[in-house]
Amino acid sequence: MTPTRSGSIHLFKFRGIAVYVHWSWFFVAFYSISTRVNHYTSPLWGALEYLALFFIVLLHEFGHALACRQVGGQADQIILWPLGGVAYVDPPERPGAVLWSIAAGPLVNVVLLPVAWLLQAWMHAIGGAQLYPNLTSFVYALFMINLGLLIFNLLPIYPLDGGQILRSLLWYFLGPARSLLAVAAIGFIGGLGLLGLAVWIRSLWIGIMVLFLLVNCWRSFREARLFRQQELLPRRSEWQCSSCQRAPLEGRYWLCHTCLHVFDVFAGQGVCPHCNSYLSLVTCPDCGDARGLLLWRPRRPPEIKAPPAALDL
Ligand SMILES: [Zn+2]
Ligand SMILES: [Zn+2]
Ligand SMILES: [Zn+2]
Repeated sequence: MTPTRSGSIHLFKFRGIAVYVHWSWFFVAFYSISTRVNHYTSPLWGALEYLALFFIVLLHEFGHALACRQVGGQADQIILWPLGGVAYVDPPERPGAVLWSIAAGPLVNVVLLPVAWLLQAWMHAIGGAQLYPNLTSFVYALFMINLGLLIFNLLPIYPLDGGQILRSLLWYFLGPARSLLAVAAIGFIGGLGLLGLAVWIRSLWIGIMVLFLLVNCWRSFREARLFRQQELLPRRSEWQCSSCQRAPLEGRYWLCHTCLHVFDVFAGQGVCPHCNSYLSLVTCPDCGDARGLLLWRPRRPPEIKAPPAALDL
């Protein structure tokens, strides 16, 4: 339920990140600009305001994408669509890496906040409302847009940034699956509350956004449940994936490429019990990374710390 590259127009590429705009954006843009006409003396300013909204959204998405790359994740496309922007980020499966990739988006709005505030305060101080009414309204709208985006994105409703930040913080204590379960549940309740608010203030637009959130939240909840079931399966604690650090599942999960039987690759040191061929690449069931069995780290026994040299009492 997110926009894809097909049906989108390629705008430009910056630092290896391609920016697209989805066709539906133009229709909603046309509608939204027409509703802002009475705020300005010329419709051009309405168009400018709408473009500025998406410029700020784009900066926010670049915050996600660049932060994700910084922590070694993948991020190479951003798609703008009527509900905002989507940065396709795939950070490494570590809470710290996910936290930074997500938090960097709203941080862009935090940085813009004083800039936008100073601009509108300056316009106010020089009496801009009389001298340049359009520019003054525009600068004020910029400030409100940035503030609105910041507040909305920080709502703890998964998959909004606030929900994802909360999830990566809970991850430290609850692990990947239970943290996702918790925020999906919180998000669902919050989303229902927001839907009630949309009905109350009769905002179709907020209603559509919240429905979109609720569908994604429900999907995440189901994913988290499967994820949790998988977490509870028996594992081989003596091995460890060198990418995600998790112990592999114990059981027949690997396909032999020669005879097409599934077998437990760790039980027979990589050799298929049906045809005796060696499986050269062993895929991690958790993160999907594939590498030779010898590159799976046998887990080190826990280190026994030597007593401190001087024990002062
Ligand atoms: Zn964001
Ligand atoms: Zn792994
Ligand atoms: Zn085989």
